[in-house]
Amino acid sequence: MDHITVSQALDQLFHAATPIAEVEIVTLSASLGRTLAEDLRAPLAVPHFDRAAMDGYALHAADAPGDLILGGSIAAGQILKTRCDPGSAIRILTGAPIPLGADTVVEQEQVHAVGNRVHVPLRIRAGRNISQTGSEFAAGDIILRQGQRIGPTEIAMFAAVGCEEVPVFRAPRVLLITTGDELTLPGSPLSQSHIYDVNRFLLASWLSAAGARVTSLPIIGDQTGLFMSELQNALSSEAFDLVISSGGVSVGDRDDVIHSLTHDAELLFWRVDMHPGKSVAGARLQNTPILALSGNPGAAMTSWVILGTPLIAHLNHGALYQEHIRGRLHLEFNKPTRETRYLRVRTHTDADGLVFDWGLPQQSDVLGSFSTADAFAIIPRKSPGIPTNIVLDGLRTGGLGPMGITWSAKPS
Ligand code: AMP
Ligand code: MG
Repeated sequence: MDHITVSQALDQLFHAATPIAEVEIVTLSASLGRTLAEDLRAPLAVPHFDRAAMDGYALHAADAPGDLILGGSIAAGQILKTRCDPGSAIRILTGAPIPLGADTVVEQEQVHAVGNRVHVPLRIRAGRNISQTGSEFAAGDIILRQGQRIGPTEIAMFAAVGCEEVPVFRAPRVLLITTGDELTLPGSPLSQSHIYDVNRFLLASWLSAAGARVTSLPIIGDQTGLFMSELQNALSSEAFDLVISSGGVSVGDRDDVIHSLTHDAELLFWRVDMHPGKSVAGARLQNTPILALSGNPGAAMTSWVILGTPLIAHLNHGALYQEHIRGRLHLEFNKPTRETRYLRVRTHTDADGLVFDWGLPQQSDVLGSFSTADAFAIIPRKSPGIPTNIVLDGLRTGGLGPMGITWSAKPS
């Protein structure tokens, strides 16, 4: 099978993975990191009454400049029964309802108030320092759309319109499998030929951060047929929305995962135009999509970020938040490249724009440099080498640098 492009691989995965249908109602505090299952309409306007945006005096704009009589005072949370008559001013504190009759608020720093006299020395426009009813949203406005991942801002928006419960999609259930005879769990002593299972923790952490419920199988060895029998057992005993595996998808004799997916599952693709991480397969078994990543941690991370994170957003009816950027390499990249290469880079800006510093370890088996990287610079396939001042595409995406994984409603 030939290499397919990243976007073709994503199409295949999106086609194979059905977005979650089940909806749950959860309390606001339990909704963090979940995905809104319905468009949310504001049941009331915000603000729902005209309110003072500053501490000062409410009055008739037509009375200013002038000398006014203090007619009362009102603070946030209070209701004033008396009107603000022409020729009078009401002392008002931020957040208080605008008294009937008043049409503007002048900041207290602008007036001279002595006893019950208020001198306003300047002209005042009507509406000044008033947060108008519905200025943030009107009753009935759609304020958040289905497919929006819920973060602190969204939770606060629910609170602003008085919702204490929200409909969210059931969290995706993901089966995680790491394979390799050489793998050992941290906490156990390491024999000479073994390594610790890094991807189990890398991928489980990413999946949890993306709001998925993860079930990890014990490490599966490379013995022929073992991966498929364990996978079939797991899928028969519990429903999963997605399987993610690591290891066993290159061309070695013991690469049993790709062998099993080819013979005992519906293989959607194997090998994608992406380096590192090209040995990645998509498949389907018992109607469950499978994303099988290479075992090299740097490669697994790259293909997880490029293919896995959009897939998680898709399962949640959303579109992954990503930033497409353009920048220049700080040093020439003097190697020809066969596949599209995702260089992990650290970005900074100089007088000519964004710079991609790629002086980080780039090998497929190195993971730690992702801790420093904040973007990918993308070297087009079949490039002979890239001099320093050529502008390249890049990608900032959840999982790199401080950017978490999040998604928003799909563009309509
Ligand atoms: P594989 O994809 O199974 O051919 O593995 C490629 C390389 O990644 C080998 O050097 C493996 O030892 C290593 N590797 C595989 N799985 C893991 C894992 N879970 N954690 C760390 N390294 C791994
Ligand atoms: Mg292996």
